[in-house]
Amino acid sequence: MVVLTHGHTDHTGAVNAVSRAGVPIAIGADDAGLLERGANEQLPANGFTGRVLRPYISRMTFAGASPQVLVREPLRLDAYGIGALMIPVPGHTAGSCVVLLDDGYAVVGDLLRAGFAFGRIRPHHPLRHYFAEDVSGVRSALDLVLDHNPQQLYVGHGGPNVSADDVRRRIDAIAPPG
Ligand SMILES: [Zn+2]
Repeated sequence: MVVLTHGHTDHTGAVNAVSRAGVPIAIGADDAGLLERGANEQLPANGFTGRVLRPYISRMTFAGASPQVLVREPLRLDAYGIGALMIPVPGHTAGSCVVLLDDGYAVVGDLLRAGFAFGRIRPHHPLRHYFAEDVSGVRSALDLVLDHNPQQLYVGHGGPNVSADDVRRRIDAIAPPG
């Protein structure tokens, strides 16, 4: 199985070939349309850098793919050989999900990013992501992830990992409380 944290093209672009090879694809139900169309649609910027990057990222498209597993509520992935729980957490996109692995790691996609200069400087330093459709949803998602007491969070940009303690310390800067 390939588990997608959300439907943005920079997280899904290779999935068409993988899917054609017969590997099932799982994604949050509300991001299935993004994946099928192979395009980034809404990209509400979360600050200056997001506004600068948006025109370039909006143009990133790919062939698209049809997911086999649409996640609408928390889903254990044991049947697919993964000891983990996949949970819908709308915020970065409407269909964003996190994956909480039984070994204490959390895969959180673009709930946050890490490091300056695209992760080259202080790569494990947690920061607000450039884009979010709903910042209060991002905050709820981070609170949910931290409530599960993971050791490390794996992010889509930078890192690749940040410590849960560093995220707790900086949570108001990453996503202010609603
Ligand atoms: Zn994204």
